[in-house]
Amino acid sequence: MSVPIVRTVDELRTIAAEWRRSGASIAVVPTMGALHEGHLSLGRAALQKADRIIVTLFVNPKQFNSAADLAAYPRTESQDAAKLALLGAHLLYVPDAVEIYPAGFATTVSVSGISQGLCGTFRPGHFDGVATVVAKLFLQTGADFAFFGEKDFQQLQLVRRMVQDLDIPITVVCCPTVREADGLALSSRNFRLSPAERAIAPNLALVLIETAERLARGSPVLPTLAEARAAILAAGYRDIEYLELRGETDLQPMTSLDRPARLLAAAWLGETRLIDNVRTSPVFSEVG
Ligand code: AMP
Repeated sequence: MSVPIVRTVDELRTIAAEWRRSGASIAVVPTMGALHEGHLSLGRAALQKADRIIVTLFVNPKQFNSAADLAAYPRTESQDAAKLALLGAHLLYVPDAVEIYPAGFATTVSVSGISQGLCGTFRPGHFDGVATVVAKLFLQTGADFAFFGEKDFQQLQLVRRMVQDLDIPITVVCCPTVREADGLALSSRNFRLSPAERAIAPNLALVLIETAERLARGSPVLPTLAEARAAILAAGYRDIEYLELRGETDLQPMTSLDRPARLLAAAWLGETRLIDNVRTSPVFSEVG
């Protein structure tokens, strides 16, 4: 079995229109390729929800802030296609660049608020690039459902906001972060880690998980976050861009844990930037 690959909007729309005529529902899973178990978990969830699933593969230059990062991003289309065939995906859409950014392209989708702070501070223009390409992929596929990972939590909330604001008729479904056995979140950037860095890498997740538990038990937010930062640096990370507590849905900064929240971090391990996040929520003691 293989998965059909299309590279133009015309081909994509012809196939999607046939599916629609037969009454099938459609899910889309946007990716930048180099597929790992995290991506495949989205595909599996999509197969549970919709009759047909389209996985998209586009390494979007507009969401990279560094030419070196873009150049180093892994491109493994034939392995990706083999994995998707095994999974049972119905279509792989690998748009030619001109299908996403035709000559004269002049539109940017920019979601304010949620795109500021966290990764937005350290990757200027990144979320405009994400919102613009995701909006295009939604419109090109006309899918009913879109699957995103919690691994990129700010991106997930940004996409939800955009869909709501622009009345895009698609339901955004989120899937939990898939981790290695030692806790490290799967990422297409993990392959860049040296063996020594790979051994240090899980500490980001482990500190976040432990900190989330401490906060839930009532530990004061600011000192606890300071201790978490120190622990990540002590484990061997080179620099922490941010480690913050934010509201679960609005991503507003929080200084006390009085509602469901996310603990989000980005940190550098050698030359590799890793991000992760975990949920935390106050434990209310029962009275009476
Ligand atoms: P990317 O190819 O990195 O742009 O990611 C494509 C989609 O896969 C996004 O919705 C990510 O949030 C999701 N994803 C990436 N890594 C993971 C992971 N470890 N677990 C779950 N979803 C993931």
